[in-house]
Amino acid sequence: MSQDFVLTTCPFCGCGCQFYLAAVDGQVVGVEPCFTDRVSEGKLCIKGRRAHEFIHSPDRLRTPLVRRDGQLEEASWDEALDIVAQELARVRDTVSPDAIGLLSSAKCTNEENYVMMKLARAAIGTNNVDHCARLCHASTVAGLAASFGSGAMTNSIPEVVASDCILITGSNTIEQHPLIGTRVLQAKERGATLIVIDPRETMLSERADFFLRHRPGTDVAWLNGFMHVIIRDGLQNRAFIAERTEGYEALAETIAAYDPERVERITGIPADQLVAAAHAYARAKSGMILYSMGITQHTTGTDNVKSVANLAMLTGHVGKAFSGVNPLRGQNNVQGACDMGALPNVYTGYQAVTDAAGRNKFGEAWGRALPAQVGLTVVEMMNAATEGQLRAMYIMGENPMLSDPDINHVREALGNLDFLVVQDIFLTETAEIADVVLPGACYAEKEGTFTNTDRTVSRVRKAVDPPGEARPDWEILCDVAERLGHKGFRYSEAADILAEVNRLTPSYGGITSERLDRGDTLSWPCPDADSPGTPFLHRGQFTRGLGRFHAIEYRPAAEEPDAEYPLILTTGRTMFHYHTGTMTRRIALLNHEEPTGYVEINPLDAERYRLDQGEKILLSSRRGAIEVPTLITERVPKGVVFMPFHFAECAANVLTNPALDPDAKIPELKVCAVNVSKRS
Ligand code: SF4
Repeated sequence: MSQDFVLTTCPFCGCGCQFYLAAVDGQVVGVEPCFTDRVSEGKLCIKGRRAHEFIHSPDRLRTPLVRRDGQLEEASWDEALDIVAQELARVRDTVSPDAIGLLSSAKCTNEENYVMMKLARAAIGTNNVDHCARLCHASTVAGLAASFGSGAMTNSIPEVVASDCILITGSNTIEQHPLIGTRVLQAKERGATLIVIDPRETMLSERADFFLRHRPGTDVAWLNGFMHVIIRDGLQNRAFIAERTEGYEALAETIAAYDPERVERITGIPADQLVAAAHAYARAKSGMILYSMGITQHTTGTDNVKSVANLAMLTGHVGKAFSGVNPLRGQNNVQGACDMGALPNVYTGYQAVTDAAGRNKFGEAWGRALPAQVGLTVVEMMNAATEGQLRAMYIMGENPMLSDPDINHVREALGNLDFLVVQDIFLTETAEIADVVLPGACYAEKEGTFTNTDRTVSRVRKAVDPPGEARPDWEILCDVAERLGHKGFRYSEAADILAEVNRLTPSYGGITSERLDRGDTLSWPCPDADSPGTPFLHRGQFTRGLGRFHAIEYRPAAEEPDAEYPLILTTGRTMFHYHTGTMTRRIALLNHEEPTGYVEINPLDAERYRLDQGEKILLSSRRGAIEVPTLITERVPKGVVFMPFHFAECAANVLTNPALDPDAKIPELKVCAVNVSKRS
């Protein structure tokens, strides 16, 4: 009997806990905690403890599949790869490289995301490459880059415990980032002040010193209200503003109109509570803001993020330990996928495709001239497919048939393509409609790295072989690139790819395989082999030089409730499932805890519509309708309903609004108008 314990990184959230996979005779049989890991400290959440259970699922894809006479049938790798390369080459050469779109994956490794974006740019010749960060934190990247010069968490996870005041908004931290949530609780036990601002009650709102409940979509108004109170009462950090920022006068002029009484009318937050919470945050010695998709998934997402940055700069709560602005990234490697340039406007390390010097650098390294025009984002690709401009798509490790807004539109878009190839570990809802399906290896079956939400890079290590003929995603991508005629994809192992990233990416220059294998904790920026990495950003100076205040007016959501659709739907995740549930719904304990979806509805609304607990109702929006059981609870306020988005049989995204933030192109997944009716 062979037995092995392999140290690797959890595939289920941006905390990036490390643990050991216990492998016996080629089967992963369990997860063991790692007590020296800086994030988990030997504690794992319920998802992490069961992260081995889907690995050997009988549903895993084992061979390539090719559609013949309308059916997906088993095929050899040569046949499947030849079809993929022929179809992509046909569209590239006879239509345009820009008629192809590629979706990379926040579940895959850094190395795989790098190869995917290189495939798009070097082998196909398009910047049409994006991934699900577009749907979660595109507004963070745009907003924080404009304010600070860098769109990532300013602090490290261990700093949370030592902050004097933690303001959490749009984040259900205990459920979505459990090992960050526990640190918030530890900080509270130490005596920190906890402020939670959310339309919906969460486990942390129950423990908060201040719980302010605002109407979904009114974030700019309450943030301007906070700043109004802080300036009115002389609590702004004048020295920090003078030395470290620009644009203060315009901000002060704009927020003068946001007195607490007006803000109460817009947001529903009582004026006296707003004032008390603003005072607590401004007076704290150190103040940390944690936020997630409740802030970002709006047509005003970039405005919301800039307003969060405004508040931190106004009080000087940024650029030092225990103080800062911390977007909590959702998927295990969404930070890394962004860092690796799986975005339509940047290469690795956020080097712009529109910058000639950067473009020449990558062009020389890859041996071809590269496209200068910014590519299409996820939702723009779907629109272009519907209009016939996008003709082929390559989707790796993403499931837009469940994760994207307005699923009926996504189905129409993908159905309109000449060719769709999906690379995944299960036959997802998206893979089911593909022309070719390529079986990938999961996190336990390959080597590489993930970058967690606090910019720290961790090793992913192989514990067992992939099932059947499945292969690591980077190997499959390299084979496709070779068949497309590009010779620059000959890597012998994942470490070769990271070495190329090191050479081309200043912020990753010192994050080498050798140092990671030695166990060094490396958070970017880490420019060279002597750099210890950077636990918190903007010490002494912002990445862009001076921090920039943005004067922002409140704008309502794109779709407000009305007589026809009188309720606001907001969506989110739960403790027991991950993304579209392809992995977690194959884990018995998690399925037992939460076997299907539901809609939370306030008892007053339930009474008005005469609904019973658990009754299956019809929930409809302007885009479609679904059947879903009720969960009558005061967790949501009157007039607001909440749905988790993990469940295909009652898919919340049939209802959500694809309206986009004008800067970040993120859709408004957090606010749309819906109606409730009894099933006939
Ligand atoms: Fe995995 Fe996140 Fe749970 Fe840690 S907190 S074990 S990374 S799901």
